[in-house]
Amino acid sequence: MKKLIGILVLALVPVFPANAAPIYAFPVADCKSSYGKYHHDYPATDIQAKLGCAFVAPINGVVEDVNSKDIWSGKTNLGKDRGGLSVSIIGEDGVRYYGSHLSRIEPGIAPGVVVVVGQKLGEVGATGSARGTKPHLHFGISYPTKPGDWEIRRGVLYPWRFLDAWKVGKDLSPVKAVAKAKAKAGK
Ligand SMILES: [Zn+2]
Repeated sequence: MKKLIGILVLALVPVFPANAAPIYAFPVADCKSSYGKYHHDYPATDIQAKLGCAFVAPINGVVEDVNSKDIWSGKTNLGKDRGGLSVSIIGEDGVRYYGSHLSRIEPGIAPGVVVVVGQKLGEVGATGSARGTKPHLHFGISYPTKPGDWEIRRGVLYPWRFLDAWKVGKDLSPVKAVAKAKAKAGK
């Protein structure tokens, strides 16, 4: 009987995961960083951090697009070249996350590669149209379109409230906000 009671007690103890892994991570890791609540011309964020700071996957996902050559020129200033070195991923939440002006792309980061939250994708820099400015990570949140697209990919909403949450370990999802932006754009 005693044994039976013991088993029953064990069965009734609720099971909590010891440390539920966060879904989202702040995209700059192991470095001091800051961002103003401002972005020129369209919604996105520039996260100021030192050259070489890690740009990490903000969520589990799959690499969508990688630009590993900086061919930007002030003369042409083509939209597709402005990001310089960049990586975009499609998160498991269906949202696209984009980081650009990188100084370096992590080896092995290529389209189709599966990445996990917090995994290093590249390093903060000042490539593309950021040439000559202080190194920073341009961070954009958008709905997936097609690889090579730059106009949507660079960002469709202001990511501050999400960054504020992720910075303190809170899982705030941009899924609804992205769907709203997509509907507004008539996509
Ligand atoms: Zn920017």
